[in-house]
Amino acid sequence: MGYSAIVKDAPGDFSVKPNIPDYKKMREEFRWEKLSEELDWFSDTQINIGHIAVDAHLKTDRRDKKALIWESQKGEVEEYTFADLSRLSNQFANVLVKQIGIQKGDRVFFFLERVPEIFIGILGTLKAGAVIGPLFSAFGPDAVKDRLADSRAKVLVTSPMLKKKIADILPSLPHLENTMVVNRRNAHLSPDDISYEAAMEQASEDFETVRTSKDDFAIMHYTSGTTGKPKGAVHAHNAIIGHYATAKYVLDLHPDDIYWCTADPGWVTGTSYGMFGPWSNGVTQVVYEGAFSAKRWYTFIEKWGVTVWYTAPTAIRMLMKAGDGLPEQFNLDSLRYTCSVGEPLNPEAVIWGQKVLGRPFHDNWWQTETGAIMIANYPVQDIKPGSMGRPFPGIHAGIVDDEFNELPEGQEGNLAVKPGWPSMFRTYWEKEDLYRSCFKNGWYITGDKARKDEDGYFYFMSRADDVINTAGHLVGPFEVESVLIEHPAVAEAGVIGKPDPIAMEVVKAFVSLKKGYTSDEDLLHDIQTFVMKRLSSAATPREIEFIDSLPKTRSGKIMRRLLKSKELGLPLGDTSTLEDD
Ligand code: AMP
Repeated sequence: MGYSAIVKDAPGDFSVKPNIPDYKKMREEFRWEKLSEELDWFSDTQINIGHIAVDAHLKTDRRDKKALIWESQKGEVEEYTFADLSRLSNQFANVLVKQIGIQKGDRVFFFLERVPEIFIGILGTLKAGAVIGPLFSAFGPDAVKDRLADSRAKVLVTSPMLKKKIADILPSLPHLENTMVVNRRNAHLSPDDISYEAAMEQASEDFETVRTSKDDFAIMHYTSGTTGKPKGAVHAHNAIIGHYATAKYVLDLHPDDIYWCTADPGWVTGTSYGMFGPWSNGVTQVVYEGAFSAKRWYTFIEKWGVTVWYTAPTAIRMLMKAGDGLPEQFNLDSLRYTCSVGEPLNPEAVIWGQKVLGRPFHDNWWQTETGAIMIANYPVQDIKPGSMGRPFPGIHAGIVDDEFNELPEGQEGNLAVKPGWPSMFRTYWEKEDLYRSCFKNGWYITGDKARKDEDGYFYFMSRADDVINTAGHLVGPFEVESVLIEHPAVAEAGVIGKPDPIAMEVVKAFVSLKKGYTSDEDLLHDIQTFVMKRLSSAATPREIEFIDSLPKTRSGKIMRRLLKSKELGLPLGDTSTLEDD
């Protein structure tokens, strides 16, 4: 296994000198404390992500530099300087504190499209000392309800369209005291809603950012596991050190860059690298509101002269599918550095980038819990296509066996990281035992299987659990199964990830029906719509197979392992001695 081909990056001179001159030397000399001195702390122990991302630039020549260039689906453009974002986020912080009465540590959630207000709101919430919780706008009502209920969010910032989608669940959330609606298109609001625009108009532009401690909670992102509902991974303000460092040395951001991160703000990449990483580095970023389209994406890169581009394997595979002729119709010469994250990046995609775009994709690995990039390919290192690269300086990653002892190079095992990096999650919200169970024998166990080669490059093998990665979005099979069995026709359901050439995996459900129901196309579509409305399109089974009964352990737990083997045509193993849980 493994790919021996090596891509020599950016052959010839680098047009811009990489921030990381020598990986080995930097690893030897790296100290997080030294790096964090580059940030504008309030005191030895006090730092605030919102301050670092925008206000820290006000004292510099970046004050009137563009921080955000936003283009809507319809082509409208809005531009915000660091000074603009500072002023607007101050106003938002005042709305929260003075008009709503939000206090330090309260949770403010965002269920909003990719509009400028989500950036302003998130920065303002952090400056007010409250905790942000961004939710993917494609979520359905149940997915939103679970997260708002679990976090006991006090405020939800949303839009008229998204509010309509979740209207039915709002009365069942006693802790949700306020719904603020961003009303860009002047829709009719209900009298209970706070109008974002009206509230902002009344709010002062002066706000003294809360001097949060580095350990105060700042960010909550829900992530799916094998069992149970999604859990809220919580990060502290200290995480900004990790965002800053990795944006500088992995994304190689330079002052003149025009940076584009295609991730949605509802996911961790969209906050760590769609806000905090680039802005703590004082870099201009462009944001495209619209959905994926190969033509529009190339147009966007050409129009704005994107230099650094951070995207995901599914998108790259979709670009590849759109054909090599398409990029030729655009001038993409501005692109200097391209990175990818979220799922395994096939070697062909790295080579395709090199051949067709003139830039190979630099894969990197991290997850919601790690808060920032842990393993990466760097501009100064050859890429081994198929590898996620080497640990970030300051990060010690290893492969451990099931007793959590480190394995030698070449052996497959559990991917683990030595705890203590700045952006490490601090807990799963109100699930401290679950959090602690992730740390074994001095390692944080990531839940991924990988191996390391003799040069210290890591290769992703698979997930250690049943979690499905579809187009970079983690879907917990349990969540989907729970919704499926709420459908009146469904008796039992088992959900697996089925390999897919574009999305890596898609959700496949095995379903047995209650007496009196017949499996036909109409029922299949009805079940799909049922899941889509409640969870999201990513979580909706692309395929449903009706079977008489599902394989179970003696204690009744559905054996997804057998369903997966059946799907892949693999030997089923000994099924006569079904294990107990
Ligand atoms: P999330 O927490 O939603 O960001 O998902 C993190 C998970 O996505 C990881 O634990 C991996 O399973 C997967 N993942 C992220 N980056 C990569 C990568 N570069 N290669 C393979 N899998 C990845």
